[in-house]
Amino acid sequence: MLQDQFGREHNYLRLSLTERCNLRCFYCMPAEGVPLSPKDHIMSTEEIETIAGTFVKMGVNKIRFTGGEPLLRKDFANVAERLSKFNCELAVTTNGILVDQYLQTFKDTGIKKINVSLDTLDESKFNSITRRDYFKRVMSNIELLFTHGFVPKINVVVIKNVNDNELIDFINLTKEWPTTVQFIEFMPFSGNKWDLTQTVRSEQILEAANLYFGKNNISKIQDKANDTSRKYGVNSYKGNFGLISTVSNPFCDSCNRIRLTANGRIKNCLFSQGETDLLKAVRAGEDLEQLIRESIYNKKSKRGGIQDFSSESGILKAQENRSMVMIGG
Ligand code: SAM
Ligand code: SF4
Repeated sequence: MLQDQFGREHNYLRLSLTERCNLRCFYCMPAEGVPLSPKDHIMSTEEIETIAGTFVKMGVNKIRFTGGEPLLRKDFANVAERLSKFNCELAVTTNGILVDQYLQTFKDTGIKKINVSLDTLDESKFNSITRRDYFKRVMSNIELLFTHGFVPKINVVVIKNVNDNELIDFINLTKEWPTTVQFIEFMPFSGNKWDLTQTVRSEQILEAANLYFGKNNISKIQDKANDTSRKYGVNSYKGNFGLISTVSNPFCDSCNRIRLTANGRIKNCLFSQGETDLLKAVRAGEDLEQLIRESIYNKKSKRGGIQDFSSESGILKAQENRSMVMIGG
């Protein structure tokens, strides 16, 4: 098992397949995009297989494909097919635009856990958040997933005065959809012009739900050991909603996550400043296991060493990080 210095076991790898994206969500990246790594600095299909295989050998039993937009990667089906041979659950987080092209791949490779990001149910707001015009496609692809027997979770980054007036509309989706809508607190990263006043705390979301539906009509749902979201449901609704409180109340004590960027660097935390270059090591024929073990062991206790986001130094540190599009969430 991959343990850090605090005894936390790490069995979940978030694997970024590309730095590119077909959206430009303002909370994730600057409008002009981000400088991309040269193509030959991005992991090839074979290198992903080797590195992911090493993680699995060391105890990882869940891999989530992310990005950038993971389905933009031309060899996505091939990567998924190769990794499906490992004794490991596969999952994907996507903006949904290309989902219709990969239904068969999801079925063939056993990808059942699909998270689709959708921050608003209003088309013109979607266009201004994402700076692109794909709302109808994303909505129809979410419906298509249900038609094909998948139960996608919906990821919503909640931002003050942007989409916090849609919380109830999103929860109402769970009346008929047996899904989880995950409300994520807006987090600071390089280039996203974050400010604490724009973060809607999970607690405020729960208050809004209690106020609208009545406290007695909302039940707490049992979370699993390493869940990052605290789940609640409106009684009699088929689905439920989850609160992901990275800013106001991080869940670092039970963190089991490792991140690998598309250019092959381990980030042992979403907010870690340091990275470990596994791609360079694999190309030099070096031992990956030792590097992985050291990186995980040295993980900081909380948010990559950032104590809080209310101090100037905490915010600056967070914004010295990569943009989210270059990490993968
Ligand atoms: N392109 C895919 C997508 O959008 O689902 C996968 C990559 S995206 C970086 C992964 C997740 O990070 C998405 O759910 C997105 O909403 C979330 N995210 C991006 N920037 C964020 C921020 N500043 N705060 C909180 N979540 C963020
Ligand atoms: Fe692209 Fe996902 Fe970031 Fe939006 S959140 S810009 S879809 S990577």
